[in-house]
Amino acid sequence: MIRLNDITSLVQSYHPKADIELIEKAYVFSAKAHQGQIRLSGEPYLSHPLEVAYILAQLRMDVVCIAAGLLHDAVEDSDATLDEIEKLFGGETATIVDGVTKISKMHFVSKEQHQAENVRKMILAMSTDIRVILVKLADRLHNMRTLGFHPENKQIRIATETLDIYAPLAGRMGINRIKSNLEDLCLFYLEPEIYAKIKDETGQRRGEMEKFMTEVKAILSAKLSEVKIQAAIKARQKHFYSIYKKMVDQDLNVNQVYDILAFRVIVNSIKECYEVLGHIHSIWKPVSGRFKDYISVPKANMYQSLHTTVIGPLGQRMEIQIRTWDMNRVAESGIAAHWRYKEEGSVATKADQKQFSWLQQLLDWQKNLQDPREFLESVKMDLFPDDVYVFTPKGEVKSFPKGATVIDFAYSIHSEIGEKCAGARVNGRMVPLRYQLRNGNIVEIITSAKQHPTKDWLNLVKTPRAKTKIRQWIRTEEREEGINLGRALLEKALQHDGLSQVNVFKSEQVGAVAKELSFHSVEDMIAQIGFGKLSPRQVVGRLKPRIDMEIDRSRGLVSKMVSRFRRARPDHGIKVNGVSDMLIHFAKCCSPLPGEQVVGFITRGRGITVHLASCRHVREADPDRLVPITWEAVGKEAYPATLRVTSVERKGILADISAIISQKDANIIHAEIKTTVDNKGIAFFTIEVESYRQLQEIVRAIKKVKNVLIVERV
Ligand code: MN
Repeated sequence: MIRLNDITSLVQSYHPKADIELIEKAYVFSAKAHQGQIRLSGEPYLSHPLEVAYILAQLRMDVVCIAAGLLHDAVEDSDATLDEIEKLFGGETATIVDGVTKISKMHFVSKEQHQAENVRKMILAMSTDIRVILVKLADRLHNMRTLGFHPENKQIRIATETLDIYAPLAGRMGINRIKSNLEDLCLFYLEPEIYAKIKDETGQRRGEMEKFMTEVKAILSAKLSEVKIQAAIKARQKHFYSIYKKMVDQDLNVNQVYDILAFRVIVNSIKECYEVLGHIHSIWKPVSGRFKDYISVPKANMYQSLHTTVIGPLGQRMEIQIRTWDMNRVAESGIAAHWRYKEEGSVATKADQKQFSWLQQLLDWQKNLQDPREFLESVKMDLFPDDVYVFTPKGEVKSFPKGATVIDFAYSIHSEIGEKCAGARVNGRMVPLRYQLRNGNIVEIITSAKQHPTKDWLNLVKTPRAKTKIRQWIRTEEREEGINLGRALLEKALQHDGLSQVNVFKSEQVGAVAKELSFHSVEDMIAQIGFGKLSPRQVVGRLKPRIDMEIDRSRGLVSKMVSRFRRARPDHGIKVNGVSDMLIHFAKCCSPLPGEQVVGFITRGRGITVHLASCRHVREADPDRLVPITWEAVGKEAYPATLRVTSVERKGILADISAIISQKDANIIHAEIKTTVDNKGIAFFTIEVESYRQLQEIVRAIKKVKNVLIVERV
């Protein structure tokens, strides 16, 4: 087990003036917080924070980071609070501990590549201080090293998560040591047989490889001392996971993977790097297309080196990397190398931190962007870098621009869920629609059948998808309103000109007029009337001559038609010229009831329409087409009538009115309620009555209902 002393002496070795007291204080605090807790390995819990702090010291981190490493589990796994930590160790330490705690609380169920990428971005976005990620990586590394004490299903879950999320994250941060360490541990738990095989085979070839390494080193160092370049030559076996990757990618057996050795030449200057490259190529033949110059074009994680592959002394390929000592440090510790103590021992400044947050964004762009448009989009996103990442209840991660609300989330699932979104539960608590998503939120949308988008929603959403869908919905809604209003206006104009028999949606003549005015459809034309962009008079003006022509053609056919419409029909209680079995229907404009004064209007092809004698349409109609009709005493038959009831808004008023209508033995076939701006309720009831008398009784009764102002027949 690592002891405090191991850590402090390691820190002092790279930073003699370090504030060791802070580390000691953190150690005492952590020991007290985790007192009595035991790891599955049987070791005291404290061994874990100690190991984590030691890994951070190996990365040559500053004391704040190492203290945070010692304290990283204190808030989650003991009674200690963040406030205490802030008071005792300062804001920076507290921020790091808080960040690590938040990430540790989340469970990633990453099955898809795309999801894993989102999770990695979420972790980056949540880490306002880059040291949060470094502590988290050290934490994960030690947990992976002690994973053997867990049951198998947990081993697989954690190893999968590590391979999907944390190893790539370490790679992105340029910390190759941790990355390859994590990858090998993952391979051990996820592919134990392959791991054993690689270990076995490479073990058997060890002698042969040692010989080969010695030979290459000897040739190289002879050449370099001849040209007087001071260099360190290192040879190592590639880590198991990279051998495994080669086997999978190229479909090879372990013993078919030849270049399992990698050589590294470390020199003092960049100039010497290129010189060494020349000398290597003069000794061994380079494999074309394998040379990479990461010195002039560094990787986004700041990695720099020359890479070349040559045909070695035994005729096999070998990779050689050439770099300076500075570059070597960056290659091993990546971003951590930049967070270390400065030469003179000063801690990283605020300006550095700013640079790191910029760096963090740069790291984000490192996604092998090939399409320049994609790159631009990515840059755009990162100039406003505040994306937030949240979970669905199933653990899927979704990303949103900062300021996005639960409505954005709802639309990202499905536009229907967006339209019906009434609120949400975030981490189990109810929140309103305007709630802005925060990193790590678990969001569950609540829908309501009564909900629908409004114009206000446009101010609440941030995603283009939600904006477009809401606008679409509003447009459709407005169009419907436009059509309704347009229809009413057009019908009124038609009535005025005595053309109320025209069905605006079905009439061929109206369709012809729409075409004449170059609309795509009758509906388009009517919507434009509703929007006030087309006058109904214009339409009627064009319609009237067409209809008059039709009527002219039908003039004189009255008697013929009357006989044509004679056929067996259910008894409707109407006699036309004393004949009772005519094809008749009741006019919708005035809905006559038995007992009222009526008159018949002969239509083209639809029989006789029964109007009230007082109906304006009758007065304006062609007298040649009117026929006298009378009511007959008949059995029960229901006739529709519509009432408009204006009232002051009151709870229960509709129930009262409905009750009266059914008490009077009438059926309600349709009811519609509107509220006016001045808080009046206007209700339309279409009811079925048997006689005019019954209707009058109902009207009288409704008038007596409290708060009812006007009852009229429409
Ligand atoms: Mn931990």
